[in-house]
Order: sequence, then structure tokens, then C-alpha cells
Amino acid sequence: MTKTVQIDGSLMEGGGSIVRNAIALSALLKKPVKIRNIRAKRSKPGLRNQHLHVVKAIGKICQAEIEGAFIGSQCISFIPGETRGGTFQIDVQTAGSLTLLLQALIPVASFAPEPVKLLLKGGTDVPMAPPFDFFKNVYLFTLQKLGLDVTVCLGHRGHYPKGGGIISCDIDPIDRLKPISFDGTKNCNPLQIKGIAHAVQLPCHIAERMLSSAATFLQKKGYQLGKLKKDCPEQKYDPHIGPGTGITLWAETDCGTFLSGSGLGKKGLPAETVGESAAKELHNQLQTKCPVDYHLADQLILWMAIVPSPSVIKTSKITLHTLTNIAIVKRFIDINFQVDGAEGTMGVIRSEVNESSLLSG
Ligand code: AMP
Repeated sequence: MTKTVQIDGSLMEGGGSIVRNAIALSALLKKPVKIRNIRAKRSKPGLRNQHLHVVKAIGKICQAEIEGAFIGSQCISFIPGETRGGTFQIDVQTAGSLTLLLQALIPVASFAPEPVKLLLKGGTDVPMAPPFDFFKNVYLFTLQKLGLDVTVCLGHRGHYPKGGGIISCDIDPIDRLKPISFDGTKNCNPLQIKGIAHAVQLPCHIAERMLSSAATFLQKKGYQLGKLKKDCPEQKYDPHIGPGTGITLWAETDCGTFLSGSGLGKKGLPAETVGESAAKELHNQLQTKCPVDYHLADQLILWMAIVPSPSVIKTSKITLHTLTNIAIVKRFIDINFQVDGAEGTMGVIRSEVNESSLLSG
């Protein structure tokens, strides 16, 4: 029997990504895991609804034996079994983030022997999580470059606190993965910037004002603008169960990668402020001339344990999330990471796996 990997959930960032990454790696590498001090550094420690659904959903796909899976639990034990394909319906019931759920499920589902279909209900555009348009246009685009076959379809958006968003996602078994090689040896310059602003159960002028303030800021800086779209259902027929609004911008670079900036609307926060701050976030990243978005960087760390080695990414900012995810991956697999750059600044992350890769068995 493989030795159980012990994870301290209070490590570094001390948040939900430790749980998501550890459970996904456990299922992928077939190594039992025990996590204690779950989300110890968050105001409400322990498993919240969205983390619980991640644990249960991965548990279903890989037929795991699970102990301690309840809201508020600060310790869980997860023993993975055989991964299977099929259709899985998951209703997070709250506005728990579906994009975070998907980022944990996709690596596991990609190694199922048959295709996996996920029908999900919950939050699509919620604070402290990838907005749906980032997930589709930046994260999934990058996975496709690695050789993954994943398609996603947005039914409705779901916002805090009601949720009710609907996403379906189809994941085909992985055939062959390519190494991660976004080394940034040349400066990466933007080709064009695209974006989507949405407003549901709210007037469409909110989305229009976000787009126009973002466009004004970016044009002044001399960027080439591509399509900036608004996504507003006709108010009379709007099927969403709660109000919400937000903007995501993404720039394609001549290094073949995407960087982003985003923001969610809030009562009392002018739409113009949200649009401009998303544009500034994107501009700040583009100025570094790096190929990899700083949110994407932390989300690629798990993949660095799976794709053919070695991997390299140069990112606009090394975050505590990224460093935490590196620490978690190293608990599961014999892998060397070399991080050049300090937290909060741009930097290069290299990895080399010393064990045989997942795909070569
Ligand atoms: P945690 O705080 O541990 O639950 O992890 C949050 C995850 O959401 C990290 O992978 C972040 O990079 C990601 N995230 C948060 N905000 C954004 C955003 N605006 N765009 C993309 N990813 C985000």
C-alpha cells in the first residue's frame, strides 16, 4: 500500500487551493492523502461548501474512500481508487466557484479511461476565483496548448450570494501531453486585447460603461483593441436568479500566450472604476513583457507535475499561491523546482520531475 501523504493545510497561503491541489494530486497519482489544519489561515477555517464539493466530486470520479468530508471539517483523509469516465452532475447549491471546481476536476478527469461530462451548478463569476471568461479564454486556451481536449459551455452565470450559474464541460481522455515551455527568453508584446463585460438582472449600461472605461484607458496607452463584447440578457427574459456584473480582458501576446485583467461589480462601486481597474491590471502585467499571467502561473503548477519534464514559465508576478502550490506538489512527487525571483515580482519557475511521468505509467 502506498504511504499516505501528510499535508498541513495551514502551510504558507493556508487557503482552499491546498485542499484542491492535494485532492487532485492524490487522485491523479493514486497516493492516499491526509490533510489537517484545513484553511487555517482563512476567517472561517475548515472545509466550506465549495471545497467539500471538490472533495466529493473528485472522490466520485476516482471512487475514493473519504473520511471527514463535512462543512467545517479541519481534517480529511482521502484514499483514491480507480478513475472512471461518465456523466457527473454537481450542484454546489451556493455561489461556490465552479471554475475552481473545474480546475481541480479537469486534471483527474483527463486521465479517466473514457470521456467525462460534467454538469455543474453554482457560481461562475465570484470573488477570489477565476471569472468564467478568464477560465475559458486564458486557462483552457493554455491547456489546449498542452494537448488537452476540454470544451466548456456557459448556460447561465452565477454570482454571490445566490449562485445558480450553469456550466457544462466535456473532457476527453488525454492522448499525449506537451511540455510547458513559456520561457519568456524573448519579450512578449501584445497583439490585440479582447474582453467581455456582463450584467445579469441589472441594466446593460453597467457592462457598457465598464467596457468603455477599460477601452479609454487601454487606447490611451496605445494598445490595439480587438472585440470588446457585452453579455447582457434581455431584462424581460433574464433567467438568472441573482444580479451580478463583471469584466474580463485578455491580451494575446506574440509569444502565443494570454495575460488578463478582471473585476467584478459591487453595489456602490462605479462601473467605470471596475473597468479601469481591470484594464490597469492587464496593463501592469503587459509591461513586464512576460508570457504567463500571474493567476495562470499558480494554476499551472499542478500541471508541471504531470506534463513531460522539464517545464518552464516566466510570469509577471510570483505569488504566495504559486509558492504554496509548489510546496504541495513537492509533497506528492519527486520534483525539483527552481524559482528565480522574489514573491511579488516577476520571475521564472523551472521544474524537473525525477519520477516516471503519469502518461508513461
Ligand atoms: P484560494 O484563495 O486558495 O481559494 O485560491 C484562489 C484561486 O483563484 C487561485 O488559483 C487564484 O489564482 C485564482 N483567482 C483569484 N482571482 C482570480 C482572477 N481574477 N482571475 C483568475 N484567477 C483568479
